[in-house]
Amino acid sequence: MSSKKNHIRLQFDARPVNEGFARMAVAAFMVDMNPTMEVLEDVKTAVSEAVTNAIIHGYTDETSQVEMECIQHGEELEVIVTDEGIGIEDLEKAMQPFYTSKPQMERSGMGFAFMEAFMDQVRVESEPGKGTRVCMRKYIEREHER
Ligand code: ATP
Ligand code: MG
Repeated sequence: MSSKKNHIRLQFDARPVNEGFARMAVAAFMVDMNPTMEVLEDVKTAVSEAVTNAIIHGYTDETSQVEMECIQHGEELEVIVTDEGIGIEDLEKAMQPFYTSKPQMERSGMGFAFMEAFMDQVRVESEPGKGTRVCMRKYIEREHER
């Protein structure tokens, strides 16, 4: 079993268009881990939820910066999405399924629930006025080697 450690850190503008970039970037990072299609889709979905939250909830200014780190710990992937935006007042409430602070924007309040469903572990740290950090981990099941 490999115990390879690999770490990348990306920073990008808080623009909705960059959510697609983040999804592709994590997929590219995972190529070396040879994931199954199912695992790949799960991780892309979770990353897209976390990055979208940073962009639409964390910041109001599209030139603010979102950071995404991808870390390989052997067979396990860790993704950390950080913003230095408004932060979350009541984290327990925010993480409940169907809770959204933007119902008028047709959000369903399922972002955190999806992250928790698709990753093995999700930890959120947030401080009002300072920002939010979402750390997610998942064991990467490998596609059969040919
Ligand atoms: P959906 O993800 O289904 O479109 P949503 O984004 O409102 O809807 P969640 O992703 O579960 O739902 O987030 C719940 C709430 O937590 C948000 O409505 C927002 O108030 C708060 N929140 C989440 N991420 C952040 C963040 N990075 N900065 C500030 N607030 C956040
Ligand atoms: Mg969301």
